[in-house]
This record gives sequence, C-alpha cells and structure tokens, in this order.
Amino acid sequence: ACAASGAAGGLLLVWLAFRWMRWRYSPGRQIRLALDHNEFVLRYQPIYDAATGRYIAAEALLRWPQPDGSTIAPDRFIPVAEEAGLIGAVTRNVLRLMSQDLGAWLVQQRDFSIEINVSPEDLDDPLFYGALDEFVVGKGILPRQISLEITERRLIEANAGDCTRRLRALGYQVLIDDFGTGYANLDNLDALSLDGVKIDRSFTVHLGDGSARSRITQAMIELARRLDLDLIAEGVETVPQMHNLLYQNVTHMQGFLFAQAVSANELQTLRPPAIVAIRQMQMSGWA
Ligand code: C2E
Ligand code: MG
Ligand code: MG
Ligand code: MG
Repeated sequence: ACAASGAAGGLLLVWLAFRWMRWRYSPGRQIRLALDHNEFVLRYQPIYDAATGRYIAAEALLRWPQPDGSTIAPDRFIPVAEEAGLIGAVTRNVLRLMSQDLGAWLVQQRDFSIEINVSPEDLDDPLFYGALDEFVVGKGILPRQISLEITERRLIEANAGDCTRRLRALGYQVLIDDFGTGYANLDNLDALSLDGVKIDRSFTVHLGDGSARSRITQAMIELARRLDLDLIAEGVETVPQMHNLLYQNVTHMQGFLFAQAVSANELQTLRPPAIVAIRQMQMSGWA
C-alpha cells in the first residue's frame, strides 16, 4: 500500500509540474507580462487624401519588439491575446499609447484622425468606454478624430449594431476593416451603423487587371457609395493601382506606395512622396 501511494504521489508531482510549466510558458502569460512591462509599441501608417494631396489620418498598428532586436507582428499575437481573454487589456493599452504618443499633437491638428483596430469583445466592455473617456476625451482629443476599425466578418458575427450606434452617438467614427473578406450579408451591412469601409488589400491588388476580382472590387466600391459610406483603399502598392482608384473617385488610400507604418515622431513631419504628387498631376481632371 505504501509503495502504491508513493507512486501516486510521484504522478501527482509530475502532473503539477507539467501544469506549472504550461502556465509558466503559455503565450497568454507572456502577453500579460509584456503588458505589465509596457513592451508594446505603436507604429502609424498614414492615409493619403488624393483630393488635397495630404495625409489626413493614420492607422495605429501594434508591434511587439523582442530583446534580440526582432519584432513580433500583430497577426501572431493578437489572436493569442483574444484566446487568452486579454484583448480588452491590449486595446486599452493601445488607446493609452496613442494618447501619449500623439495626444498633444492631435489637439493642434483637428483635421487629422487616428484609426484604432478593435475587437468585437471591446464593443460591449465598460472598461473600453472608460478608456475612451480617459485617453481620448480626457486628453482633449475630439471623438471624431478617432475611427474604430472592426473586421467585417467579426462585426457581423457579433451583431454589434447597438454598440456601433452608441459609439457614433458619442462622436466616434466606425469603419469596417478588411471589407470584402467577410461573408457579404448585405442586409446586415445596412442595419449596422457605420461611417465607412476599408477595402481589403486582396481586392486592391487586382485593381485594373481585368480579372473577376477587379470587377468585384468595382462593384464593392459602387455598393459602399450607394450606402453613403466613406471608402479607404488598403494595400495600395503601385501607381497603376492609385490611378485606377482615382478613376473610380476613391481618394483615400493607404499602402506602401505612400508609406509604411512609422514612429509617432516621424508621422508628425511625414509628407507624401514626390512620385505620388507628380503622377497625380499628370492625370488631368481626376483628383
Ligand atoms: P489591418 O488592420 O488590415 O492593417 C493593415 C495591415 O496591412 C498592416 O499590417 C499593414 O502594415 C499592412 N499593409 C499596409 N499597407 C500595405 C501594403 O501596401 N502592402 C502590404 N503587403 N501590406 C500592407 P500589420 O501592422 O502587420 O497588422 C496586421 C493586422 O493585425 C492588422 O490588419 C490588424 O487586423 C491587426 N492589428 C494590428 N494592430 C492591432 C491592434 O492594435 N489591435 C488589434 N485588435 N488588431 C491589430
Ligand atoms: Mg485595420
Ligand atoms: Mg485593414
Ligand atoms: Mg486588411
């Protein structure tokens, strides 16, 4: 009997050690620690307005720098944060970083806005609304200077019409991110209270190549217009893509043709590249 209980105790110890290791090295815990140690940083990718030739907004994009000098991309850690129930803390951290980085500047630049990626879980979290009060309103930033981006698929799944209405009533702008990649439930699209849509890069990339995708992109643009939504094209990488967008009167563009995501300091002095201004001038009458 004695030997048996010894073996059971040993097994229990092994099991406990295993559980401890799993917790100790779990990705969720790493993110919790990174939040506590303020390891995340924001980069800002500008959005170009072809009508004025200026940057009018920037999207805040999260980065996780590592001790070895590399950086972990958000596609890798955001899903983990969501899985671990930490996305609310991540989003509030983003709002705090944004207001530290750019709060004073945004008070001087009333025509400039910042786009923040949020998860559907944020939309009915009282702590999220508290963070908006603290880091936006409390810093003198106008709610209309903040756009909240939510991916199409998840917005529809979350049936978030009441939340988006509430946010817009508070003055925030609400955008659908990755427009075209969710299932196109057009009935819901109309029921959601929205300011605009961001056309996903997977569509932008096919603009003007004569493919079915390019015709679908045109139809998406037309649909957004009919619903009176603002349009932003993501992932614009080439001059022909820019021309094609201008031809369809889409004037708000984001992509590597203009700039990658830069630091908050760089953002404040960044100007669109000369090539863009010149090519645009060559096209008479369009912008
Ligand atoms: P997204 O919201 O669709 O952001 C656009 C992504 O496309 C960014 O990648 C950006 O760097 C990249 N991009 C922009 N222009 C171009 C282009 O011309 N060509 C190519 N190939 N790529 C371009 P990033 O920063 O790696 O972010 C990936 C995704 O991670 C974002 O997609 C967003 O869904 C998510 N994300 C980023 N920051 C946050 C955050 O603070 N909170 C949440 N919840 N999600 C975030
Ligand atoms: Mg986005
Ligand atoms: Mg996007
Ligand atoms: Mg996208």
